[in-house]
Amino acid sequence: MSSVSSRLSSSTAAAKKLVTASSPYENAKTVLLVYFVLKQSLRALRHLRARGITSTFGEFWRWVCERVLLLVLQMPSMKKKVQTEMNRAKLDIEAKLVPQGADVVRHLSLPAEGKSPEWIMEEMIKMDKDQAMSDWRHGKLSGAVYHGGDDLSRVLVAAFERYAVSNPLHPDVFPAVRKMEAEIVAMCLRMYNNPDGAGTMTSGGTESIVMAVKTYRDWARATKGITEPEMIIPATAHAAFDKGAAYMGIKVHTLPVDPRTRKVNIKRVRRAINPNTILLVGSAVNFPDGNQDDVVALGKLASSHNIGLHVDCCLGSFIMPFLERAGLSEGEDGGKKYKLEPFDFRVKGVTSISCDTHKYGFAPKGSSVIMYRDAALRRHQYYITPNWTGGVYGSPSLSGSRPGALIAGTWAAMQYMGSDGYLSSCREIVGAARAIANTIADSIPELDVLGNPPASVVAFTSSDPAVNILEVGDAMAKRGWHLNALSGPPAVHIACTKLTVPLVDTFVADLRDAIEDARAAPSGKGTMVALYGLGQSSAVGPSMVTELAATFIDTLYKA
Ligand SMILES: *Cc1c(COP(=O)(O)O)cnc(C)c1O
Repeated sequence: MSSVSSRLSSSTAAAKKLVTASSPYENAKTVLLVYFVLKQSLRALRHLRARGITSTFGEFWRWVCERVLLLVLQMPSMKKKVQTEMNRAKLDIEAKLVPQGADVVRHLSLPAEGKSPEWIMEEMIKMDKDQAMSDWRHGKLSGAVYHGGDDLSRVLVAAFERYAVSNPLHPDVFPAVRKMEAEIVAMCLRMYNNPDGAGTMTSGGTESIVMAVKTYRDWARATKGITEPEMIIPATAHAAFDKGAAYMGIKVHTLPVDPRTRKVNIKRVRRAINPNTILLVGSAVNFPDGNQDDVVALGKLASSHNIGLHVDCCLGSFIMPFLERAGLSEGEDGGKKYKLEPFDFRVKGVTSISCDTHKYGFAPKGSSVIMYRDAALRRHQYYITPNWTGGVYGSPSLSGSRPGALIAGTWAAMQYMGSDGYLSSCREIVGAARAIANTIADSIPELDVLGNPPASVVAFTSSDPAVNILEVGDAMAKRGWHLNALSGPPAVHIACTKLTVPLVDTFVADLRDAIEDARAAPSGKGTMVALYGLGQSSAVGPSMVTELAATFIDTLYKA
């Protein structure tokens, strides 16, 4: 005790000597330096704690390898080779997306005189034919088209027509649109068991998530003074969270999921929380493999640290809230398979939920709802500037003017479907997903289903070294299926919709054939193998894929 205190006093004396011996300028410099070093060390420590030592060094090692390889690629001979490859890939993408040939009519400037309605329709029909629009009605798609049936489509078109020019930015001009938007949010809040909560509509799942990220950033700044916000997301969370964080300047810790359950590792989440953490994320269900995170455990962590917990139900949308009433929440095999766990506002600690009306709500594309536990939290989503030259400006979400037609279409879809409509679509769609998952588990030994998906998505990976799952995906593409490729582990998924319900047997038969193709003659050339294989092939893989993806987006704007 005494030795400690004497050592302490001698070091304070030394510090005093240091301070008194130097000029005020020197002192200020020292203080600043100490502050800087402490701050950076704290940052580094928190980073290490959140990511873990192994992954931090892994990340660092990959970064070093990438730098070195990128330097090598700067050598003239290598540079030329890469450029040639990239140009070839660019031409491939263009050939696939942009109609080629001298007889293609390109509308590059305004017609001198307006065209007739008949001409416009004919031209659209011609463009669809010329470009061989993939016939989505055959149903061999994962997700993509959430079609509620032709009768519903007619209802949507009628709603569009009536509200074609409406804009909720002017509620005094379009009072019915305002009322419909408020009612859509109210209906969703009841579906997710928070009738006293608050929310807004947005243009889609991505905007809902980006808005939630913004809300928590501003909430944490206003209530806790956090200026270097961090958020913690599962590796299976949607890319929209990274996008939101990139837009809003928030640091993201992406944590691994349990390889068997596919739920985020709660121990890692707990360790990653620090005083700068503003938000935890869970999915119900996630996009890659359709599993749900342990929302109850995440909720406990969020409420004990007084931080946000966003549950992403963009995909779960109008499926998850109906599983219980559909009699599907107990799962199968006495709850061993596909069991639903609590995910909505009834779970303590859940502070916001995103729900895509334009997925299983069968609303027109461009429609989603972001919900908050209470109206006070929603306030942080708003943007208001009182002193704009154009007048006081306030808007609830990213957009200013918004299409009232989409609000009317969404309202119409929800009224048309009703609870019983969504209940039966939930039964059909989840029934199809479980039939596929059970068949794979029981009778396709080469494949493993990832986790225990409770809703509409089934992902599968290969357990047979002789079968490359991405080859299976490419062989499925040859049979007309548009499925999604995943990484970590390499896998393929199908999100079942109303369109896939009648095709379960076809899907399984095609899958068995595709496995045989992949085993017998792996081509190594299909899109999935080429693109996803590249991403994992080397340290520069990701930057190549980034370059290819940017080229793809460029090509979208080639008229
Ligand atoms: C579809 C989806 C989103 C958002 O996607 P949008 O295309 O912007 O509607 C977010 N999370 C999950 C889990 C999704 O499936």
